[in-house]
Amino acid sequence: MAKKKKETYAICRDCGTEMVPNGACTMNEIKINGRWYKRRSNGYNGECGDCNVGDGKLHHMGCDMEDCPRCGCQLISCCCDKTHLRKQTKV
Ligand SMILES: [Zn+2]
Ligand SMILES: [Zn+2]
Ligand SMILES: [Zn+2]
Repeated sequence: MAKKKKETYAICRDCGTEMVPNGACTMNEIKINGRWYKRRSNGYNGECGDCNVGDGKLHHMGCDMEDCPRCGCQLISCCCDKTHLRKQTKV
């Protein structure tokens, strides 16, 4: 049996986990122009084609499929001032 090469994935520099299939980012809020916003999750059916997160999960930071929660445009290219991410567990 041939040795299967272990697949390696890019690591999200914000949550520190590998972008494995059906994963999710744990940093659920983003600071934009001085206000905290809930990040938008993957609204597509199935895994995100870019960062591999599952349906309804949060994209990893830098994914080009994530929409900006403030202006609704592509997060990585909109002109909002994004400064911080945080993990907020309390609702
Ligand atoms: Zn992440
Ligand atoms: Zn994604
Ligand atoms: Zn924006």
